[in-house]
Amino acid sequence: MNSKALYSLTYGLYVVSSMKGGKINGQIANTAIQICSEPQVIEVVINRGNLTHEYISGSKVFTVSILAKDTPLNFIGGFGFKSGRDVDKFAGINYKTGQTGAPVVMDNSLAYLEAEVISQMDVHTHTIFAGKLVDADVIREGEPLTYAYYQQVKRGTTPKSAPSYHAEKKEEKPKMDKYQCSVCGYIYDPEKGDPDGGIKPGTRFEDIPDDWTCPVCGASKDQFKLI
Ligand code: FE
Repeated sequence: MNSKALYSLTYGLYVVSSMKGGKINGQIANTAIQICSEPQVIEVVINRGNLTHEYISGSKVFTVSILAKDTPLNFIGGFGFKSGRDVDKFAGINYKTGQTGAPVVMDNSLAYLEAEVISQMDVHTHTIFAGKLVDADVIREGEPLTYAYYQQVKRGTTPKSAPSYHAEKKEEKPKMDKYQCSVCGYIYDPEKGDPDGGIKPGTRFEDIPDDWTCPVCGASKDQFKLI
């Protein structure tokens, strides 16, 4: 068996949110699909250890906010790589409360779906929640973010041979070392810099201010290693 075949599956990238007893939480997920159209039913797949899983299990409601292709890395990192048990992920985030009481992320979202759970299935580490659509709307026009684009381009893990790498490359620069975050795997590429974090393209890793943090997971600069 060649498990690399699984890498050929395609996914989007979403913030799946829920609530329980007045508390709200959301997380990044790449697994949201429409199951049927009459009635309109969608599903999400959530890790059983996650706080969002606990909230969906309790309240039987969830929302899916569909992220735009130009969503900044640090926004995605704020909803991933962290637990709502430790931080308030909605602090500083523009959101609205949906019909079910679950939050809908408005920042960087193209559209949202809101559902009430009608069925669920435990599958080892994860649960599939199927929910009847109770509300949905388009927030703005745009191209949705795909999981592949996030992995290959935004996180900087595109192989040099990949077409997207050359498409992104603007001009030849002197060779500069790349550094990788030991927490999340993000690669700092000096040619690209970290424009969202105020680091201009062409900035050597050594020249980044010490208070800079990983744009994906928020790890400090000293948690990066030369690759
Ligand atoms: Fe990181």
